[in-house]
Amino acid sequence: MKTPTQTNAIDFDSAKLQRLGLAQPSPLVTRPVSLSQLRQQLSQQLQTSLEPQRILGLFFREVQRLVPLDALAYQHKPSDLRLEFGQRGHHSLSYNLSHEGEHLGELVFRRNQRFANSEQSELESILSTLFFPLRNALLYRAATQSALRDPLTGTGNRIAMDQTLEREIDMARRHMQPLSLLMLDIDHFKRINDTHGHGVGDEVLKAVADSIKSQLRNVDMVFRFGGEEFLILLANTSREAAAMVGERLRYAAQTQDYFAGGTRIELTVSLGCATLLPGESAESLLRRADSALYVAKREGRNRLTMAG
Ligand code: GH3
Ligand code: MG
Ligand code: MG
Repeated sequence: MKTPTQTNAIDFDSAKLQRLGLAQPSPLVTRPVSLSQLRQQLSQQLQTSLEPQRILGLFFREVQRLVPLDALAYQHKPSDLRLEFGQRGHHSLSYNLSHEGEHLGELVFRRNQRFANSEQSELESILSTLFFPLRNALLYRAATQSALRDPLTGTGNRIAMDQTLEREIDMARRHMQPLSLLMLDIDHFKRINDTHGHGVGDEVLKAVADSIKSQLRNVDMVFRFGGEEFLILLANTSREAAAMVGERLRYAAQTQDYFAGGTRIELTVSLGCATLLPGESAESLLRRADSALYVAKREGRNRLTMAG
């Protein structure tokens, strides 16, 4: 059966940004409310967070006091954000949210029962309460994301790495899944700088980062660990699978073409690989990957070494 879909566009400029004033905060109750009560309540409540997840979660919960829903999906492609709440439903209402040409994402309401016209207009009216909170949250997210990235290579920086590593270790423990880590260092990188200049060195660093990212499923797990050293976190990846990924990265770096003023630059990388042990700390895991990398260097470079 084809899923009936209605696609609509909501431009907040024309969607009558009704100002309802900030009166008494309504208590958190689950009984049904009128449209104007809900608008008033949401316009206050949604301002209390800068997290898209929390804003839309609150919105999903509270909107159901007026219009029952089975699911809400939100997507903002420029910031690589996708959120889903609830279960899927057969019927959907989709909205492209925008304000003064600024794209604020797509929102889809779903449920198994068809939407009545009156419900559709109520949802459309209530959508405007999302505008300022969502825009602020997206701006905040963009700002925090750039604070977590290395500007040269676009990979995560050390702050991002520390946060992500702790989180992934937690997740691996909780779900009893393996977690592996690759430490990658460019071989004789100093020579590239010395021979071709620092500018070319920078370009090569970028190219190596792009090569790593293009080989991986989740680009959010690549970090610049030091000058010419990268760390790759492989969630739910066993030692054997991580060895294959590492070997693929090594091969890609070696076979990729890097040019400086028409001459091809020879480049290889060395890697150390470690897989999280029961009860192991982030520091210990990093140390073991680093020691394995050191062994790879000592044994001749352009190779992958597994931590013991
Ligand atoms: P090895 O094979 O043992 O890793 O040798 P190496 O030359 O790669 O290692 P070494 O640690 O001796 O030198 C790393 C060089 O990386 C030195 C430093 O100038 C350079 N480097 C670090 N960060 C940057 C950067 O952001 N841009 C450029 N162009 N060079 C950098
Ligand atoms: Mg090096
Ligand atoms: Mg190094």
